[in-house]
Amino acid sequence: MTTVKQSPQSTPATSSAEMIDVINPATGQVVGSVPDLGPAEVQALAERGRAVQPAWEALGFEGRAKILLRAQKWVIDHKEEIIDTIVSETGKTYEDAQLAEISYGASAFGFWAKNAPKYLADQKVKSASVMVKGKKLMVSYRPLGLIGIIGPWNYPLTNSFGDCIPAMAAGNSVILKPSEVTPLTSLIMARCLEESGMPSGVFQVATGRGDTGRALIDTVDMIMFTGSTATGRKVAVTAAERLIPCSLELGGKDPMIVLRDADIERAANSAVFFSMQNSGQTCISTERVYVEAPVYDEFVAKVTEKVNALRQGVGSGPGSVEVGAMTFPPQVDIVEGHVNGAVAQGARVLTGGKRGSGPGDFFEPTVLVDVDHSMAAMNEETFGPTLPIMKVEDAEEAIRLANDSEFGLAASVFTKDVERGEQIAKRVQAGAVCVNDAMINYVALELPMGGAKTSGIGSRHGAGGIRKFCQQQSILISRFNPKRDIHMFPYTETTTNRLGKLFGFLYGRGSRD
Ligand code: NAD
Repeated sequence: MTTVKQSPQSTPATSSAEMIDVINPATGQVVGSVPDLGPAEVQALAERGRAVQPAWEALGFEGRAKILLRAQKWVIDHKEEIIDTIVSETGKTYEDAQLAEISYGASAFGFWAKNAPKYLADQKVKSASVMVKGKKLMVSYRPLGLIGIIGPWNYPLTNSFGDCIPAMAAGNSVILKPSEVTPLTSLIMARCLEESGMPSGVFQVATGRGDTGRALIDTVDMIMFTGSTATGRKVAVTAAERLIPCSLELGGKDPMIVLRDADIERAANSAVFFSMQNSGQTCISTERVYVEAPVYDEFVAKVTEKVNALRQGVGSGPGSVEVGAMTFPPQVDIVEGHVNGAVAQGARVLTGGKRGSGPGDFFEPTVLVDVDHSMAAMNEETFGPTLPIMKVEDAEEAIRLANDSEFGLAASVFTKDVERGEQIAKRVQAGAVCVNDAMINYVALELPMGGAKTSGIGSRHGAGGIRKFCQQQSILISRFNPKRDIHMFPYTETTTNRLGKLFGFLYGRGSRD
């Protein structure tokens, strides 16, 4: 059983809270347990977070960056311990933890330490209005205060803890409510911050289930949520009742389009990696592929051969398996339902297609063909190691089908004609689109990442990814000049007529069509 050292930063041990067991889904073994906090305990965390926030803000960007950069080094120094914890509570492979969690966490600490001052610097604004001529106009950003962050189980470091970094870099206190399925990584990150010199109470973890998440929304100044679209809707409603801002990163059904002129080897490698990596449990996984008819057979043959060669199982360290376990046991039922449902409706399984052998929770890497949009495998988020492939006549049909979805998180287009690829990318209804690549845009922290349609509201990364944790304030400064004092009253016919002429001169030259 993994022992996670509880630090003063992390969840307070409470006598009244029930405990939630954390299970390694690859082995079925209990690896830890955390308290299921209720509203009173969340309220106590909130009071502590609010009490310490002004001093944290007062440290300034430089003072905060020092601590964040120490934390960056801590992550690298303790990477094996963090990877062990992530692997033990998610059942993912060593490489899935290393590539998509450690590397993200470490780079994000450095990125926000360096870029927070730039993104949150006061901005001078020029106005075309003659009515504010000579006045100083600016936008400034102040931390909102106490931020609540609620995360999913698939990336306990990247998608739960990751958003805490810009929130803290902006000068806020943060309470993180990790998924009840994978809470241990958040507690290690609390230790990371404590040992890096973070003032106590700036970062706290509220372990618990959905009710703990709801209680958190009731106490914070802003909520950042990552999870399913169904829960995201509930979070938005709760936030709306309190009129606090909320940012939502939700589910997806990401399409890949493979055109006849694509490099088929590259497209097939991408389709396999970006659908099977993390056992397909990535919000921006490739979940469906549309291939132009002339290259369909070649693409399907390559993909099937590559998927067939993947090793799946309980990892025994670096280089041991490509595909790990399903982290959340009920997810196996969803994946199985999508595959069986598609087969019942006429799809064919070319490889995989069933649960893996126990005691852990696995689903075999699966390739499906002869699929269509009446099947759940093509229109609902599967979130598993499956790749349904559909033949299309041409690019127009591929775009139409890619857009035939309630989701709009990310997408990819494969073609050697990159200009055409860019044009097609602009027509796909998704928050992020890659040409001849997939998913890798996520590591470019300068690039906003957020969903279209039911895949989310708002975005992470880039300027917007930190400004959302701030109150934007517009400031207008008039220099005092007694000769130009404001004395519009009393209105006189002369001044009113003069103003009318001025507005006519300024704005009367618009189009007369
Ligand atoms: P989920 O929606 O079931 O749970 C997410 C979190 O919400 C958990 O911490 C849960 O305890 C909490 N929660 C549940 N009910 C709540 C409520 N009423 N109020 C407040 N909090 C509540 O999601 P999941 O199954 O943990 O994660 C998988 C989903 O997350 C997938 O749909 C995936 O696409 C999505 N996801 C999206 C992104 C993204 O960036 N867009 C990233 C990772 C995962």
